[in-house]
Amino acid sequence: MLLRIGRIIIGRATGTYMNRWGIPDWLGKEVRARDKACIYCGTPMIEQMPLHGPRSAVATWEHIINDANIITRENIARCCAACNSSKGTKKLSDWLQSPYCKKRGINKGTVAEVIKAALSLGEFQDKRDKGDYAQDTFQRPL
Ligand SMILES: [Zn+2]
Repeated sequence: MLLRIGRIIIGRATGTYMNRWGIPDWLGKEVRARDKACIYCGTPMIEQMPLHGPRSAVATWEHIINDANIITRENIARCCAACNSSKGTKKLSDWLQSPYCKKRGINKGTVAEVIKAALSLGEFQDKRDKGDYAQDTFQRPL
């Protein structure tokens, strides 16, 4: 009885339940349903760590942009353990140039839609940061 009351209070206080990566349940379910194959290499993933054999296909949580504070369906995805450990904290566009990706034929044309979207946003931000759009887009003379 006490335990049950405790759970209800916790649920109300936080509003939603999170997994240990701070991803709310509803978002975790949505992303799991979307990303059944690795978002990078396309390999079908397994949920459980196998007792024997390779673990490279185990599903892992991925922050596409390496910022644990960006918890959105655009930045949270599922990728295989092999891609996750290779990518590490590298910037997505840099990692796609790595020997790991080249060897496996992973590039911006082969990745999942959620990654393509992140890449095109990244390209826009890079150009904006370099000032490429400054003349014609942001500082149009009056
Ligand atoms: Zn992968």
